[in-house]
Amino acid sequence: MNSSKRIPGHRFLHAPGPTRVPDEVMHAMSFQPMDLADPRMMPIIMSCENGLKRLLQTRDADVFMYAANGHGAWEAAIVNLVAPGQTVLIPGTGHFSESWAVESEALGCKVIRTPWSEGYPIDANAVAEVLRADTRHEIVAVFVVHTDTASGLTSDLRALRAAIDATGHPALFVVDVVASLGAAPFAMDEIRANVVVGASQKGLMCPPGVGFVAVDSIAMAIAGGNHAPRYYWDWGRRKSDLPYRKFCGTAPQNLLMGLEVALGLIFHEGLEQVFARHRLLADAVHAAVAGWSEGGALQFFGRVPEARSVSVTTVQMGPGIDPEPMRTIARERFQVAVAGGLGPLAGRVFRIGHLGDMNPAMILG
Ligand SMILES: *Cc1c(COP(=O)(O)O)cnc(C)c1O
Repeated sequence: MNSSKRIPGHRFLHAPGPTRVPDEVMHAMSFQPMDLADPRMMPIIMSCENGLKRLLQTRDADVFMYAANGHGAWEAAIVNLVAPGQTVLIPGTGHFSESWAVESEALGCKVIRTPWSEGYPIDANAVAEVLRADTRHEIVAVFVVHTDTASGLTSDLRALRAAIDATGHPALFVVDVVASLGAAPFAMDEIRANVVVGASQKGLMCPPGVGFVAVDSIAMAIAGGNHAPRYYWDWGRRKSDLPYRKFCGTAPQNLLMGLEVALGLIFHEGLEQVFARHRLLADAVHAAVAGWSEGGALQFFGRVPEARSVSVTTVQMGPGIDPEPMRTIARERFQVAVAGGLGPLAGRVFRIGHLGDMNPAMILG
């Protein structure tokens, strides 16, 4: 890239997304584009939709894929479910809950936030409290980030489902699994998530460019009655058997070829095995950070050990220590790229991604 000297050997990418793309996926994408009516495209699309349903563990939800990143899939959930002037509740997880909140506000929604305590996952009691106080049921949906990739924390979705149920509030349960799908166990039907939002470039080991949502019948009905203006993202318009309608135009053909193969790799390894591998790699990184912490120059950002994610570990530097020079040396001299801090954590933390196409030897690097 900008440095003229090539450094031999493998470059390690330990960002929590985009993640490494397996060779099988790379090869699957090197096809010439097809004619829009080419009959080979439909089986690839169906295979991606069915594979995503299987991975999300849902039987009946509709899957809609977009030529978009995670922010696009967020927007799809917002504009289909919530009309301008209506309210959503977004529990604080850090940079990603805040970004989804800002996007919702930009689209005219009112957002109620529960406070984010640095180092902690979502407080289910705080969510229940807000819902209980909403006696007129003005909150249309609760938008939950499962794993916040900035704070490196995973919130307990079962506890959130139970908290919503306990209030009797009809708000939809909408879950962002962008950073957790394909790394941590998740079952859409079991936790009765009404909408799930994901993207291709993290646990799914594909390049960025495919965002997707899975939508249950309750959320489809809400969307059907929502007259907020929308076109590209509209689920009603996309519910079709024709590829050109499914994608509201040309499908991202090569990315779908890659996604089909990536999903196949996950199922071939076995879901339980994929989750166990992520657990093992996360435990190894956590053991290393625990060891490094002894000197006092750094510590885990996450204060609750059970909530530290299997996808990414956020490491907080001691006061006055800038993580950026360390990141530069790691990347330029040792070919190991780790991620920096986002939003309010910029300059205070670095992050080690350990999700996707990764094995123990790579983690040792
Ligand atoms: C990466 C990420 C997003 C945003 O995805 P983009 O593809 O960068 O738009 C949303 N939510 C979570 C949890 C993420 O990790």
